[in-house]
Amino acid sequence: MTPADLQSAPFGRFGICPPTSALLRTATYWSRQARSMALTFLPPQEQAERLGARLSFDSLRKPFSLGYRRKRQQALNPERYREFSSAGKGPWSDVPDTVWNDWRWQLRNRLTTLESLSRFMELTPEEREGVSLAAKKRLALAITPYFFCLLDPKDPACPLRRQVIPTGRELFRAPYELVDPCGEDRSMVAPGLVHRYPDRVLFLVTSRCASYCRYCTRSRIVSGASGRELPPDYGPALEYLRSHPEVRDVLLSGGDPLLLADSKLEGLLAELRRIPHIEILRIGTRIPIFLPQRITPELCRLLRAFHPLWINIHVNHPAELTEEARQALERLADVGIPLGNQSVLLRGINDDEETLRVLVQKLLRCRVRPYYLYQCDLIEGTSHFRTPVRRGLELIASLRGHTTGFAVPQFVVEGPGGGGKIPLDPDYVESFENGQLRLRNYRGDAYLYPDVPPETDGPALTIRSNCD
Ligand SMILES: *Cc1c(COP(=O)(O)O)cnc(C)c1O
Ligand code: SF4
Repeated sequence: MTPADLQSAPFGRFGICPPTSALLRTATYWSRQARSMALTFLPPQEQAERLGARLSFDSLRKPFSLGYRRKRQQALNPERYREFSSAGKGPWSDVPDTVWNDWRWQLRNRLTTLESLSRFMELTPEEREGVSLAAKKRLALAITPYFFCLLDPKDPACPLRRQVIPTGRELFRAPYELVDPCGEDRSMVAPGLVHRYPDRVLFLVTSRCASYCRYCTRSRIVSGASGRELPPDYGPALEYLRSHPEVRDVLLSGGDPLLLADSKLEGLLAELRRIPHIEILRIGTRIPIFLPQRITPELCRLLRAFHPLWINIHVNHPAELTEEARQALERLADVGIPLGNQSVLLRGINDDEETLRVLVQKLLRCRVRPYYLYQCDLIEGTSHFRTPVRRGLELIASLRGHTTGFAVPQFVVEGPGGGGKIPLDPDYVESFENGQLRLRNYRGDAYLYPDVPPETDGPALTIRSNCD
């Protein structure tokens, strides 16, 4: 890959600019990005002041305009993912079902090297580069045989393949990209324990995942490829929790907490439950998607003893919701665990209205409520995955009102360097004048709404009929 290729990476293979002007536009794009993102390194107050004019919310409003128009990927036809199907055992067809369904076998047989991967599929030159370089330095490569069977070996643009197979583009670092975009290391009060919000903590309990997502926010920790691992001793974190009565909510994440052995997980949950001020426990996991075999009846029995326990899964594309995943989620829901989903908005993977709609509707059928849709964090080497923030707002506007209210996730952007999750919403208020709000409904129709003046409790003065 040449530097020019890397430079054009942010526009992705579904290029939004014509080749002739690509270089020029790329250069302009990056110089603008570099200037604005240099602000990231200023103290938040100053950052806000400098950004003030440029990032006035006006530029983000207008949810119904299509500032960022991407050619619909009609070829993908998201509707075909609406039903739950099983991809079977692919190249492992001679492996008996009992072995295939053994989660330890799945883990032992993960594809982790260029050789093992090339045995089953043809990699593009870009992917070969990613596997030989990015996977060694940045974030390891690992794909369970189960998940591998869901990838399209013939299509490098396959939305699942792009999530787990690295490409050379990961070696490109945009000027504003960070190793620790959420500033977690800064708020770490004990090894693995991030206390940022007043009443809840994030507890990173392992560095391992069943498969690794190329855009992972915690690439610096998970997989051990960058030479960092989480300490195995939970003692100091538990001690901190015992002495901080303001913590009422503990979110276990990692890595993937459900990769811990049953006994270890049970021990940890029991320790947490012994702390009286901890009201709820949560687990963030991608196991039902990468390794549904791990959701055994024994694991479900173990988990149900620690209620109230909530689980958030991580699904980005409806093709990830297979028959196996559906059954695993059913086992969790049947032991009374409320399920939520967090998606990352990814260019060319789920940044179109149809895919996102099929995804959220399919989640509801699995009794999973969409929770957050994340703007792809500013992690090093992920420019090719990122969409404009405006696109996220447009997508939310395309769901709100058009489908079940609780199918609509909250769109969030992480304040770079430790600002936490900042919710962004399409704006349905067009103006507020003379005591009247000019509102838009989900279809874009305008309505005048007579507001009650704050100093009186009487009815509004005039009510006009709907405007055009
Ligand atoms: C996301 C996150 C939480 C949980 O946030 P909710 O909005 O309550 O889901 C807690 N701590 C940290 C550091 C987080 O990043
Ligand atoms: S499962 Fe989660 S923690 Fe693991 S690589 Fe994917 S995004 Fe990162």
